[in-house]
Amino acid sequence: MSTHCPYCAFQCGVRLTRAAGANGARSLGVVGDRASPVSRGALCVKGHHAAATLAHPERVTTPLVRDASGALVRASWDDAIAIVTRALTATRAVHGADAVGVFGSGALTNEKAYLLGKLARVALGTSNIDYNGRFCMSSAATAANMAFGLDRGLPFPVDDIAHAEVVLLVGGNLAETMPPIMQYFDRQRAAGGSLIVVDPRRTPTADAATLHLRLTPGTDAALANGILHVLVRDGLVDQRYVDARTEGFEAVKALASSYWPERVERITGVAEARIVEAAHLLGRAKSAIVLTGRGPEQQSQGVTNTLAFINVALAIGAVGRTASGFGCVTGQGNGQGGREHGQKCDQLPGYRKIDDPDARRHVAAVWGIPEREIPSKGKSAYELLSSLGDDVRALVVVASNVLVSTPNAIEIERRVRALDFLVVVDFFLSETAALADVVLPSAQWAEEDGTMTTLEGRVVRRRRAVAPPPEVRTDLEIFCAIAAGLGKARYFASSDPRDVFDELRRASSGGAADYAGITYDRIDRERGVFWPCPSEAHPGTPRLFTDRFATPNGRARFHAARHAPPAEVPDDAYPLYLTTGRLLAHYQSGTQTRRVHALDAMAHAPLVEMHPSTARRHGISDGDDVRLETRRGAAIFGAKITSSLREDTVFVPFHWGGAQSVNRLTSAALDPLSRMPELKLCAARIALHVVQGERT
Ligand code: SF4
Repeated sequence: MSTHCPYCAFQCGVRLTRAAGANGARSLGVVGDRASPVSRGALCVKGHHAAATLAHPERVTTPLVRDASGALVRASWDDAIAIVTRALTATRAVHGADAVGVFGSGALTNEKAYLLGKLARVALGTSNIDYNGRFCMSSAATAANMAFGLDRGLPFPVDDIAHAEVVLLVGGNLAETMPPIMQYFDRQRAAGGSLIVVDPRRTPTADAATLHLRLTPGTDAALANGILHVLVRDGLVDQRYVDARTEGFEAVKALASSYWPERVERITGVAEARIVEAAHLLGRAKSAIVLTGRGPEQQSQGVTNTLAFINVALAIGAVGRTASGFGCVTGQGNGQGGREHGQKCDQLPGYRKIDDPDARRHVAAVWGIPEREIPSKGKSAYELLSSLGDDVRALVVVASNVLVSTPNAIEIERRVRALDFLVVVDFFLSETAALADVVLPSAQWAEEDGTMTTLEGRVVRRRRAVAPPPEVRTDLEIFCAIAAGLGKARYFASSDPRDVFDELRRASSGGAADYAGITYDRIDRERGVFWPCPSEAHPGTPRLFTDRFATPNGRARFHAARHAPPAEVPDDAYPLYLTTGRLLAHYQSGTQTRRVHALDAMAHAPLVEMHPSTARRHGISDGDDVRLETRRGAAIFGAKITSSLREDTVFVPFHWGGAQSVNRLTSAALDPLSRMPELKLCAARIALHVVQGERT
């Protein structure tokens, strides 16, 4: 049976295998699916070990409810659902519908994301639904919508990367986070292409680059403006494209005039000659792709940073041309589809806006409710979590480990503990689920059907290859059961993924992310269909913006993107930048990968990485315990000394919870437009950790 890896947005094709184990039992394994048009048989180590979570001994296999002694104990589904619906009903009655919050996930299939949004609006009547993709994709999505009128991570097939003369990758470490995508970069460089990587760290991806621009954290927009300055100065702007296909260039050109390379070198730390070299490579290429990752996006200036690099792509006439363009590299498995179908606080299915009267009427008609019953815009993810215990009194969490993935996590844990009621739908007892009043066990990736939308905007099938444990239900069955308990069963008639997808198709019809013409059978026949696809006769849209942009006048919009410093910059008290990110062995909050023996063996605990000079200044040696402190708290990590870091920067991966959670230290300063928290950097200090006067 062929399906897809449960983890990142590359959605590598996999096949499940059964092999005889040592005791004669047959154990599940995973191999790469060579027929996948995207991954072509490749897998990273996470995908290779993906089957290990299915029959894992720590799996939650029955509903759990908290008893009078405070312990989580086994319960029947009837009892667990009754407790959930009683608590949610009571919260609504006492505090109002908006006192119930819903927190979803970029890991959910399109069907689940859609039905969760409907559960919030139709069954619970709350405006307060958002999801962990707000911490991942929201700045890039906002910027793309502003510039192009449409947000699809890659508006072109990933194969275009192999054919681009130059690729500029800003703040993404794909060689570790998404290794199979590197086959396209390898082909690009083998054909004589250049790869420019912008990253404060010398990552394995930067090691593979033709040119590595090692900027000071938080100076991305200044660097982009410096590149644009050189493009203008040296006559490398594609003026014919700018005149024919864009608007707003003159204001951006005026702003870029103040970002001369010497000044940008002072701001970014990138040598003037390297800035000029990057601009010349981009400006002289016949085809060029600009990509952003979480580096520039997870900042309080995330939208500005992304817009600044979009300006570069537009100025060289790249967007909408073959083997050229701008894209953001989506992170979570369904980070693309998960942001299209209604689990965002300001959104209805089909990437519709919740405050658009036409959108509300269309979706209300599909749902069979009066338009006025659809709630208005609610709180964004961090704002929702930071209001727990105040105006939000009960929370439904699905497939998200907010205690680990949210910045300022000490405060968020306090907030979660202040709730009147918490229900978590998950298959492991994550740090968040461990605090729940009720845990509802859900089926995993290889146990369910559905669709995922890859980073290219290609809708693919997730297929049920094995049965879930007997007492485990799918998320769709759980949502329908909760809705029934709330007296709304007639709006949630089927938990069959095919039925839910057909309803999603109707709800998305005519919207920006139009899935109306996509069917399960088509996906099977065509090995995925790219949205928008408004009818079954439509071929789908692998490449966007070839003739016009999705703005009212069809032109892309430049935006003046003035550099501003991040919310925290180093000072005397906290003299270093702390940046965070992922490791090859682990995925996001680590709920799954930390439980896989082979992956745990590769990286058992987070280390704080620092430059040898930084370590020397603080009297720290490799392997020492180090106290890392920010304005929000402190944590102890082992030291890893590496010259891949700048002297002013330390790095900690964010896959661990409890005392090992670096997000207990990170900042929740929000981008004013995307409401993305500044997970990527804050000010910090380090010291050798000494216990009772002894060097540890
Ligand atoms: Fe592929 Fe991503 Fe899974 Fe790795 S984690 S196997 S890159 S889908």
